[in-house]
Amino acid sequence: SSSSFMGYRSPVICIMGHVDTGKTKLLDKIRRTNVQEGEAGGITQQIGATFFPDIALQEQTRKVDEDFDLEVPGVLIIDTPGHESFNNLRMRGSSLADLAILVIDIMHGLEPQTVESLELLKKRRCPFIIALNKIDILYQWNAKQYTSVQEALSRQQQSVRDEFQTRYNNVVLQLNERGLNCNLYWENDDYRSSVSIVPTSALTGEGVPDLLYMILKLTQDLMGDKLEVREKLECTVIEVKNIEGLGTTIDVVLLNGTLKEGDTIVLAGLGGPIVTTIRALLTPQPMKEMRVKNEYVHHAQISTSMGVKISAPGLDDAVAGTELLVVGPDDDLDELKEEVSEGFESILNDFEKEPAGVYVKASTLGSLEALLSFLQDMKIPVFDVGIGEVHKKDVKKACIMKEKKNPEYALILAFDVKVNQEAQKQADTDGVTIFTADIIYHLQDKFTKYMEKYRE
Ligand code: GDP
Ligand code: MG
Repeated sequence: SSSSFMGYRSPVICIMGHVDTGKTKLLDKIRRTNVQEGEAGGITQQIGATFFPDIALQEQTRKVDEDFDLEVPGVLIIDTPGHESFNNLRMRGSSLADLAILVIDIMHGLEPQTVESLELLKKRRCPFIIALNKIDILYQWNAKQYTSVQEALSRQQQSVRDEFQTRYNNVVLQLNERGLNCNLYWENDDYRSSVSIVPTSALTGEGVPDLLYMILKLTQDLMGDKLEVREKLECTVIEVKNIEGLGTTIDVVLLNGTLKEGDTIVLAGLGGPIVTTIRALLTPQPMKEMRVKNEYVHHAQISTSMGVKISAPGLDDAVAGTELLVVGPDDDLDELKEEVSEGFESILNDFEKEPAGVYVKASTLGSLEALLSFLQDMKIPVFDVGIGEVHKKDVKKACIMKEKKNPEYALILAFDVKVNQEAQKQADTDGVTIFTADIIYHLQDKFTKYMEKYRE
């Protein structure tokens, strides 16, 4: 029966933070942990994710706590880039990722995307730890590859430790100002009310054992039941990608349950639910077989805690950040379609639509969510929203504001999306303003300046 214990699945972790804080390099350094020490340890590249099996993890946690008991089979770290990573915080009203790592550059402190990530983590109630990265840049840092960070800090001369303390205090102060309690992880005795900070270097790997240790400790301590393997499918689309030779594919994280080749699947599309059949379930070739001509390994079926690429016909307008369902023998297709659309629409409708306000477009559901939550805080009213490129019909919608005697809101805020030529032309004709940006704060700046000018 479904209530019997089937063991634990691997926790799913995502990495967030401002550009250039070292997210990619940190993940890369984590990936190399065991390679460095002469043992590949079964770390495998998946679609948009890397899987670290228990043996690879055990070696690292031992450096921090000899007696640490590993209860999960491994850890899946998702590595979708930039704004796509916001999709990793989407799953039936909660968070796909069990835990997030928020990377902060110790030299720069809080930056705009750090704050955007913090807001979204809070909204999604996703637990997280902070990697305070680039400690090796501290003047006269004495490095030793892949040591635990407490050992690394105690190795430093006093002046280095002083500089660390000063910079650390600054970051903590900035976080406190945002209402966040936090502590160095080894001084944190209440994980529930205070966020743990792990100082790291993605260059030397110092602090990487601690980061892995904390991921495991927190997920095991705080979310035991949530990590129990379930039969019911839990699968989220994290990216929609065009691949040469395959057409439009979707990258999914399969949290629980099983996907099979030939399964009929249902997922949200921009123009309504998509029903299609899985043509192929793909993961990347193992490293050592990189020279093999075919880039992907095919699977007849795949289960639990995996990053997978799905090739299927008709995925062109699939929406990243939504659920994927499989049609079982006893399922009613119409019900599943409804379930998928409800999930999608509730997100689009789940904000205060104002009779007078700006029109908003974003690249994915995740980035739309981040933008909306920000606009709400800024008290910028929103009239309607959409996903994807700005089209002529969006301009027409924004233009409605002119008829409503709110011409100042004949405005489109476009986040991480392109404006097509036809739309731009229409906007010029209708006198609709379009602001585009890749950072939410930049949209706010543009909007604020625009409103000031308008009111003059
Ligand atoms: P991302 O945009 O967050 O993915 O950042 P990247 O991983 O691309 O890193 C941005 C830059 O910072 C690159 O030049 C990295 O080599 C450098 N960098 C990242 N982490 C560290 C670190 O811990 N120490 C030092 N010295 N440089 C780092
Ligand atoms: Mg990167």
